[in-house]
Amino acid sequence: MLKGKTALVTGSTSGIGLGIAKALAAQGANIMLNGFGDHEAPRAEVAALGVKVGFHGADMSRPAEIEDMMKATAAQFGRVDILVNNAGIQHVARIEDFPPERWDAIIAINLSSAFHTTRQAIPAMRQANWGRIINVASVHGLVATAEKSAYVAAKHGIVGLTKVTALENATSGVTCNAICPGWVLTPLVQKQVDARAAALKISNEEAKKVLLGEKEPSMQFTTPEELGALAVFFCSPAADNVRGVAWNMDGGWAAQ
Ligand code: NAD
Repeated sequence: MLKGKTALVTGSTSGIGLGIAKALAAQGANIMLNGFGDHEAPRAEVAALGVKVGFHGADMSRPAEIEDMMKATAAQFGRVDILVNNAGIQHVARIEDFPPERWDAIIAINLSSAFHTTRQAIPAMRQANWGRIINVASVHGLVATAEKSAYVAAKHGIVGLTKVTALENATSGVTCNAICPGWVLTPLVQKQVDARAAALKISNEEAKKVLLGEKEPSMQFTTPEELGALAVFFCSPAADNVRGVAWNMDGGWAAQ
């Protein structure tokens, strides 16, 4: 379905980003990966699906590096047809204890980076009259949890950015939507499981149940594969008129 298209997925060396990159590659899209840590193994996993794969190590907190990544992707693949703004970090602390530099980093990586990629991707998408911008927000784009001020502010912000992007392009073939996962067992969440296990002196498995039990009625983690399938749907012709939604895949978290 996506043969000949190119998808840039930020923060795709791990977790949800890698899951979405693989789902888009399975539909034939060439992929530009981005993120920290080892990129050779993710690159091989995506390339095994028979598509072209590039990598750019831009730090999403740095607008100049983001600009370089956008230019490099256009140079290597022609243009970005599908932009998945996924890179994100977390920090958990009460507001009065929240380190200001962590606040700045979360706002830069989880929110502002999406503005910088989007503003540079839109002109070529508009020219082609086809584009898909998918923002990986969170159920925390819809509801809040204590001790996650920067994350919740950034995720509510990206849901707002999603709506504006959708409206500004509503009469074109460029759509923008957000995905709002509940708990997904990636390194980002494993840190929170570990913290809970240590604080309550319980096992890893028990800590996972505690985390799910607090928030997610299904008592199941959402998987990167399920989120990848939703991203594929947003790229399909059936989703041509799905614009500006914040679609939660959260086991009922936000329904409560
Ligand atoms: P993860 O830690 O597995 O992956 C994060 C990715 O972002 C990695 O590839 C990492 O290298 C990259 N990254 C981090 N900082 C970066 C930077 N400055 N520049 C470039 N890349 C950077 O986490 P994940 O759980 O897969 O999270 C991906 C997205 O999904 C995030 O936006 C997160 O907020 C969101 N999300 C996660 C969950 C969850 O339960 N895991 C739930 C809702 C939303």
